[in-house]
Amino acid sequence: MRIKLLMVSILLTIWLSGCAVNPVTGKNEFALVPESTEINLGTEQYLPTRQVQGGDYTTHPQIASYVKEVGQKLAAVSDRKLPYEFNVINDSTPNAWALPGGKIVVNRGLLVELKSEAELAAVLGHEIIHAAARHGAKGMERGMLLQGAVLAAGMASQNSEYGSLVVGGAGVAAQLVTQKYSRNAELEADLYGMNYMAKAGYDPAAAISLQETFVRLSEGQDSSWLNGLFASHPPSPERVAANRETAAKLNRNGIVGEKRYRQMLAPLFADAAAYRAIDDGRKALQEGAPERALSFANQALKLQPKEALAHSLRGDIRLQQKRYSDAITNYDRAVQLNDEYFHYYLQRGLARLELKDTANGEADLQKSVILLPTAPAMNVLGNLSLDRGDTVAAKKFYAAAAGSDSVAGKAANQSLVKLDLPDNPSKYLQLKFGLDKSNYLLAQVSNSTNQTVVDIAYTVQFKDVNGQLRQVQLQVRDQLSGGQSQVYSTGIGPFVDLKNIAGKIVQGGIAE
Ligand SMILES: [Zn+2]
Repeated sequence: MRIKLLMVSILLTIWLSGCAVNPVTGKNEFALVPESTEINLGTEQYLPTRQVQGGDYTTHPQIASYVKEVGQKLAAVSDRKLPYEFNVINDSTPNAWALPGGKIVVNRGLLVELKSEAELAAVLGHEIIHAAARHGAKGMERGMLLQGAVLAAGMASQNSEYGSLVVGGAGVAAQLVTQKYSRNAELEADLYGMNYMAKAGYDPAAAISLQETFVRLSEGQDSSWLNGLFASHPPSPERVAANRETAAKLNRNGIVGEKRYRQMLAPLFADAAAYRAIDDGRKALQEGAPERALSFANQALKLQPKEALAHSLRGDIRLQQKRYSDAITNYDRAVQLNDEYFHYYLQRGLARLELKDTANGEADLQKSVILLPTAPAMNVLGNLSLDRGDTVAAKKFYAAAAGSDSVAGKAANQSLVKLDLPDNPSKYLQLKFGLDKSNYLLAQVSNSTNQTVVDIAYTVQFKDVNGQLRQVQLQVRDQLSGGQSQVYSTGIGPFVDLKNIAGKIVQGGIAE
């Protein structure tokens, strides 16, 4: 719904905005998305997009502070004042992205591939240009012009196991941060990003070495790179050459900062083996090998006991093994270390509910949906509301969860129909009239749900031979399975035609 509203408001402003000067390039261009929409979208989507990609990296908070410091140095020389923000995502995939409005992240997995502060500045400067020069906003506009509701279409994030579970508006930006920028946008982001580097006191040549590394890596077909940074920012020898030309024209007296970068990032470099163990453990768990996963989790915890992800991996293993108390102990520790990631609350909530700790379990699920609304959490919150007889709340949760094409989403949809069909049978059952050979009225009843419906009744309004308006209610004796249509004789007639005949489904229920 939100997307449609956003679309309408964007289209309405076509007449208001029209031509605008791009603050970065100075070029005149047609701008459909107003700045306020860019900023609102970025602000609203920043948290859920970070959550779905892995949550913020908080284990060594000085590293995120350092990234923010470098980012703000570059933002300060930007041609466009936006509410810039920078964060580090706790994920090993080498990636970085910018949302419209200047909301930027870099993954922990990319930080460990960089060699200097100037290379970090090259990454952040490049992302700043994508936001400042409206590259993401233009992508939205292109999508709107080409296919209308493009934002509503592919909401899933490719990098995350939660991509398909996210519901509501929270998945909107996932498409923006995984869309592939055009060749021109990449060249523009490099060119102006290097200008910003020089202005902020960095040696812009770092953008050359970085791009060379990327070209080399892209030839290696490493899937984490191809699914991460390279999916949205394709590297090319053309970019290397263009960066060389740009650097030749710019001030090269700025800092490279290799030593400072190594010092600042030292704790993260030291944790490399811990993260490898966590990633291997996660993979083993997905492959159905919990014992192997557990040995990886224990190894990771020995290497870095302060990483919440490692505790949560052990919790996920215990949850799968139905060792709920152990799982809760692990999630408690994860939440103590990082209380800002939805996954820990969602999983602890599910474990607590298994042990009938309803109040705390529900509170955990509620916390998880504030950080990121997911179908599994919404579906269970619906069940809990229903258990206490609050059908209004239950319907709301189920309807939210039903937006996801996942197991939980389908279960929620089933529960929603079950609850809502008795109240609104005509929403799920359709009625059509026809005449038989003797001109008596036929009624066709169709069940558009995927469940068996019983106790169906409908009304027929018609004028009798005396011109008198009459209404009768008729019962359908059969049960209709999901998707089934059936035609019934009503015994009413004969009629000349179907004019003045109306009817409505007034009753129905889901078979137990
Ligand atoms: Zn790019």
